[in-house]
Amino acid sequence: MTTQTENIYGNLINGEWLQSEDTFIVENKYTHEVYAKVAKSSQEVITNAITNAYETFKKVKLSATNRYDILMRATQLFEERKEEIARVICSEAGKTITDARAEVERGIQTFIASAEEAKRLAGQGLPIQGQPGNDAKMAFSIRVPVGLICAITPFNFPFNLTAHKIGPAIAAGNTVVLKPAEKTPVSAIKMAEVLLEAGLPKGFLNVVNGFGHETGPVLLKDERIAMYTFTGSPAVGRVIKRESGIRKVTLELGNNSPNIIHHDVADLQRAVDLCVSRGYSNSGQACISVQRVYVHRAIYEEVLEQAKATAESFIVGNPENETTNIGPMISVKEAERAEEWVQEAVNAGATIITGGTREDALFKPTILTNVKEDMKVMCEEVFAPIISIVPYEDLDELFANVNDSKFGLQAGIFTSNLHLAMRAAQELEFGGVNINDVSTFRADILPYGGVKDSGVGKEGPRHAVEEMTEEKVITMHL
Ligand code: NAD
Repeated sequence: MTTQTENIYGNLINGEWLQSEDTFIVENKYTHEVYAKVAKSSQEVITNAITNAYETFKKVKLSATNRYDILMRATQLFEERKEEIARVICSEAGKTITDARAEVERGIQTFIASAEEAKRLAGQGLPIQGQPGNDAKMAFSIRVPVGLICAITPFNFPFNLTAHKIGPAIAAGNTVVLKPAEKTPVSAIKMAEVLLEAGLPKGFLNVVNGFGHETGPVLLKDERIAMYTFTGSPAVGRVIKRESGIRKVTLELGNNSPNIIHHDVADLQRAVDLCVSRGYSNSGQACISVQRVYVHRAIYEEVLEQAKATAESFIVGNPENETTNIGPMISVKEAERAEEWVQEAVNAGATIITGGTREDALFKPTILTNVKEDMKVMCEEVFAPIISIVPYEDLDELFANVNDSKFGLQAGIFTSNLHLAMRAAQELEFGGVNINDVSTFRADILPYGGVKDSGVGKEGPRHAVEEMTEEKVITMHL
């Protein structure tokens, strides 16, 4: 079957949507009703997807301007279908409709930035004559696509994070086998539909659906895949790193994002509002979600009061309602896990300032104090609408605590003190430091990626295109 029936989706192989008797269910994350049925890819289907994408890379070449045109045409189609895609995200991820619309807008920008990179892809002139004996030689480099890329994506930004992989991969001239998160595959399927409609030749993007533990081993062992680009949990990131051997990988993993509010912050209300709202947006399920908030002792009580008031003003509920601020977590199981972590912290001496409870998958925005660095809510990735507020006085101790994490994706600091801001920029062991903004701020056009257990390699269209190409060096004897 080649067409997608209403809410029954297939695997995309060689431009055809293939259905299967063997399907899995995608729930509406708020109502728990069946939202979609998606064909599971068997081992044979995955192998066919890889073979087709591999052969397509060998046989079909798209010029830079072709790639630019296809990606730009796709952005126009996304524009036309943006409300439909936002509604998909809202249903399958439980993201509030307002945040879902913002995600589609970001995804469109990610595709535009990727399209532009298709035209900029270039090597460099190389100064070979700088080495004695090379006077009769010239050298330069060109950038060539790595080949077949396998993209594996998470549930929490099912459109924009998929865009961050597919856009650059196509811009760089690669073919792709995409395995979207099984909890939210429809957003990625819609993206693939649009790319086909925009003129992407068959075989450039194949989509295989299913659970990670079943699809992963087949995808990881096939040596025809030249590179894996993965966003997801550190546990799965480790499996991919191990199994991929000497092939290329980009891993965008977790964090327990620290944010500092110093006593000299220019606009305290803004800092607190940002820390609270970005700790709770998407129910805290963002890799750079505000989690640990370090507040100078002199303003600690004031911050607690403001943060509590802001947290309690948030509307938790049906993500389809325009006024809802916080929708459900991805599953009841995940909400139960978050509840357990709060309980564990409380048993070890933490205090709940507000929240701490759940109804079904809806988790109340939560503030904890009296936490210790070794509690899970502090040292692990909480991935729920829970922030912990910690007072500090001594800067050396503060920096040591902030850095005492296995993660290192992004951090935020609010201060008017230029020296402190620059010290944070230099000393905080993270892939990015946002000054007078929260850890959650990300401009999609910038390089993005973590250190330590937060991953390897960079995303952001320009940097992703670099990761997804090889610099080939050419020399010539004159
Ligand atoms: P996850 O690791 O459970 O799943 C991510 C993807 O990996 C899914 O498609 C899943 O099916 C697949 N997968 C699972 N097991 C696999 C295996 N053995 N082999 C191959 N693939 C497998 O993550 P999730 O729950 O969907 O997403 C949440 C995580 O993603 C959090 O840790 C979050 O911090 C991280 N994340 C990181 C970034 C970033 O840019 N750094 C952005 C968003 C999310």
